[in-house]
Amino acid sequence: MNSPLHAGTLESLVFDNRFVNELPGDTIKTNRRRQVRGACYSRVHPEKVSSPELLTYSPEVAEILELSPQTCKTDYFAELFGGNQLVQGMDPYAMCYGGHQFGNWAGQLGDGRAINLGEIINSRGEHWTLQLKGAGPTPYSRNADGLAVLRSSVREFLCSEAMHHLGIPTTRALSLVTTGEQVERDMFYDGHPKEEPGAVVCRVSPSFIRFGNFEILASRGETTLLQQLIDFTIRSDFPHLGQPSTATYLKWFNEICRTTAEMIIHWMRVGFVHGVMNTDNMSILGLTIDYGPYGWLEDFDPNWTPNTTDSQGRRYCFKNQPHTGQWNLLQLANSIFPVINDKIPLQESLTLYNDVFQQGWNEMMAEKLGFTSFDPQSDNKLISELTSILPLVETDMSIFFRNLALLDIHPDAQDTDSLLYPLLDAYYQPEQITKEYKNRIGKWLQDYMQRSLQEKLSTRERRSHMNRINPKYVLRNYMAQLAIDKAEKGDASMINDLLELIRHPYDEQPENEIYSAKRPDWARNRPGCSMLSCSS
Ligand code: AMP
Ligand code: MG
Repeated sequence: MNSPLHAGTLESLVFDNRFVNELPGDTIKTNRRRQVRGACYSRVHPEKVSSPELLTYSPEVAEILELSPQTCKTDYFAELFGGNQLVQGMDPYAMCYGGHQFGNWAGQLGDGRAINLGEIINSRGEHWTLQLKGAGPTPYSRNADGLAVLRSSVREFLCSEAMHHLGIPTTRALSLVTTGEQVERDMFYDGHPKEEPGAVVCRVSPSFIRFGNFEILASRGETTLLQQLIDFTIRSDFPHLGQPSTATYLKWFNEICRTTAEMIIHWMRVGFVHGVMNTDNMSILGLTIDYGPYGWLEDFDPNWTPNTTDSQGRRYCFKNQPHTGQWNLLQLANSIFPVINDKIPLQESLTLYNDVFQQGWNEMMAEKLGFTSFDPQSDNKLISELTSILPLVETDMSIFFRNLALLDIHPDAQDTDSLLYPLLDAYYQPEQITKEYKNRIGKWLQDYMQRSLQEKLSTRERRSHMNRINPKYVLRNYMAQLAIDKAEKGDASMINDLLELIRHPYDEQPENEIYSAKRPDWARNRPGCSMLSCSS
């Protein structure tokens, strides 16, 4: 069907459904909630919806899939990605996985409201799995409805694309479709359920396999199947590591440790807080996955967590993300151990995670400060002093780093007020700037100036280096919420405005200056802006 006549259409998609073709599936065919043993997935169809309507789509993702803009604007596209149709070659299924939630083994979880339509192979030979999130119940839905609401779907759609454009490994989003159905949600689990518009996002990723896919098999002692899934994953997504063997398994785990560390360094670079780093939300490819109660640091508070469910323990707060990554990798190591039977190399990889993280963090912070490389002599102290200073008064992380590039680097003495001047925009409450604070940041700025002088970069070079790593625009929590408020009233225009904005997060966009400003005061404590729950 790859004739020029069909190019760019849904009918021209070529499927190569490796996951279902090569791994054993559930033998029970009824879509009934249950424990699924001896299988990696269950075949299940999306639920039909009354009136699917496309709110928006990502042109870049359509291009990856080789779908033309005309195709994406057809009714058929909305029908398909709302769950009402299938095209030839699709073979829909939900995956079986388990997970550690908030540190405790939770048993079988699985795709409770995600249905994989199939795996596309494009003309470049790349495999991309299409997955509908919110397309109805599956055997893994436990006591929930398998649906998603508009609010959480807008957040998932925008954030996955925002992360991609920031240069952060992530699953992608093709489309956002409203279903015409009403879905009941108790947003803060406090006895106030409300009807909300239903929606479906089509997520796209080379693979949706999570740490939890391996954990569930290990927890059940299904070692043969575990090895089969490991071999499949290596052959499909890590072919560069060679044919599956014990040596390859170890290289594979090592690589997962490295990519996970790299992903979290990126999160720390832009102030992203995932909010639910359970092992079922950790991609085997080191991609950011499952955008639920995530948030962006506005004031630099290392203890901040966007997730109200996490507000007591703060297990998943900003500063704990690196350690949590390692804890999750330890669970993965435990689960693949039965096919490796040697814990020493696994432990070495977990140690390597720390080294990769520390080195990557140092280099990333040095780059944020405008240094071409990390100089341990001076930079350890500069970075740790800065991360101690930033939380002292409410300081906007994105504005602070972006504006550091505006400092004039020259050898003449400058007083604290002139040094601080370009950074004043970053302070939420200037009255918090005491004399003591000023002395401390003044000293830091003097040291920073001296260190920057060593770089011998022109002002232009320095600014352009820094502006490539310190984004001007991130998806501030309140921005997504404003887009949701409008979309719930039937106006999707702001979703598209934000999609356009986040395409160029490092560029100056004079017409969008407002979105680079501090969070407005009304958003400080508004649900959806500073407090989120897993309810979605
Ligand atoms: P999450 O917290 O989104 O990572 O979800 C944890 C588990 O709950 C996964 O197995 C999800 O598929 C499942 N889940 C979350 N929301 C729903 C829902 N509305 N219906 C069915 N399953 C859900
Ligand atoms: Mg999840």
